Amino acid sequence: MDLTFTPEDQEFRERVREWVQKNLPEEWKDSIPRTQEEREIINRQWDKKLYEGGWAAIAWPKEYGGMGATLIQQLIFNEEMAMADAPEGLMHGKGMLGPTLFKFGTEEQKKKHLPPILRGDVVWCQGFSEPNAGSDLAALQTRAVIDGDHLVINGQKVWSTWGYLADWCFALVRTENTVPKHRGITYVMIDLKTPGVTVRPLDQITGVHDFCEIFFEDVRVPLENVVGEINRGWYVAMTTLTHERSTAYLGHPIRFRNQLERLADLARNTKRNGRPMSEDPVIRQKLARSFIEVESFKHIVYRTISSRVRGEEPGAEASMAKLYYSEMLQRMTELAMEIEGPYSQLVRNSKWALVEGDWQYQFLYARAATIAAGTSEVQRNILAEHILGLPR
Ligand SMILES: Cc1cc2nc3c(=O)[nH]c(=O)nc-3n(C[C@H](O)[C@H](O)[C@H](O)COP(=O)(O)OP(=O)(O)OC[C@H]3O[C@@H](n4cnc5c(N)ncnc54)[C@H](O)[C@@H]3O)c2cc1C
Repeated sequence: MDLTFTPEDQEFRERVREWVQKNLPEEWKDSIPRTQEEREIINRQWDKKLYEGGWAAIAWPKEYGGMGATLIQQLIFNEEMAMADAPEGLMHGKGMLGPTLFKFGTEEQKKKHLPPILRGDVVWCQGFSEPNAGSDLAALQTRAVIDGDHLVINGQKVWSTWGYLADWCFALVRTENTVPKHRGITYVMIDLKTPGVTVRPLDQITGVHDFCEIFFEDVRVPLENVVGEINRGWYVAMTTLTHERSTAYLGHPIRFRNQLERLADLARNTKRNGRPMSEDPVIRQKLARSFIEVESFKHIVYRTISSRVRGEEPGAEASMAKLYYSEMLQRMTELAMEIEGPYSQLVRNSKWALVEGDWQYQFLYARAATIAAGTSEVQRNILAEHILGLPR
């Protein structure tokens, strides 16, 4: 692992830091507890501000409006954003569809879809999972039949993050039933305003509803919206998923570190039997464990990046990082509940909740971390087969 920053990288870091210090309003900081609606508005405004500042897409090629920067500079950018506690933005278009279109999109598709993503004008969601297709994604059953120059789509997607807010959805549909399941799937971009589309938000345990079900009833989508070839969508989807799993957490070690500082503050400010919880030896041990875990996670991320800088594809290391941080996050938020003690039962809108109930929210949301983007069991299977060489 070699992550020495060159003088150009250092200069790049200075430029990012200076810009974010000037342009991030104090009240937009990510750690401030706020409602889902407030969070969305801020994320959208932040995406637009990044665009205006020329920072919309660090690693996108210049020909598509990006900075054409290196992976190390992307890391630096994400780290600086995390250090400044900046919002993460609405990432599906930039982080997942964009890189997929560079590889598989037609020139028309790139011209039509990439600029609005960069400007933050269009929000995208991902329509892959279905009620009976999650870990086994290739089992998906949403059906699409070719009718003239259109696909006619019927079926249901579920867990589409930001679905109710999205203008468009990149989705996988079944176009062939008589071949092995991976080979009959097509990748298509669907305008969610098309007649026959119904988006229904799902109420979550956190009290928000950012995941959605999407229903398709005779939805007509032009064939020009197919990405790659008909029935070859599985390979296109792998590019999207690789990007979902590989660069998404570059700034996470610093975001977790910030979160830990707040957790230590919670321990200092919460008293039990007249003494701050930060003096309790067991709590101190657990806080120390969390600090060690965050530091270890940072090195897992650096190792992944190092191998990519050497030109290797993101592989099983990405699974290791995902598995490690999702379980670490759950332990960290469980510790917050332990520190809060009886107050941990109070949710956001209770006036007695500590820190506006933000730790409850984080604790509940962290349950999803070991499911989203591939469950822990699935990540362990990947590690067992690809790193340990165990039989399937
Ligand atoms: C926060 C969040 C956001 C999400 N956002 C999106 C989104 O935007 N778009 C989208 O399309 N999807 C999204 N998803 C869906 C996500 O990809 C799926 O939930 C995930 O892939 C698991 O699928 P499933 O829920 O169907 O569970 P299942 O696959 O049914 O799994 C159920 C249980 O069985 C276990 N299991 C399954 N297969 C194996 C195996 N081979 N070996 C061992 N154990 C196994 C799993 O680990 C799990 O414990 C999101 C999910 C979450 C939680």
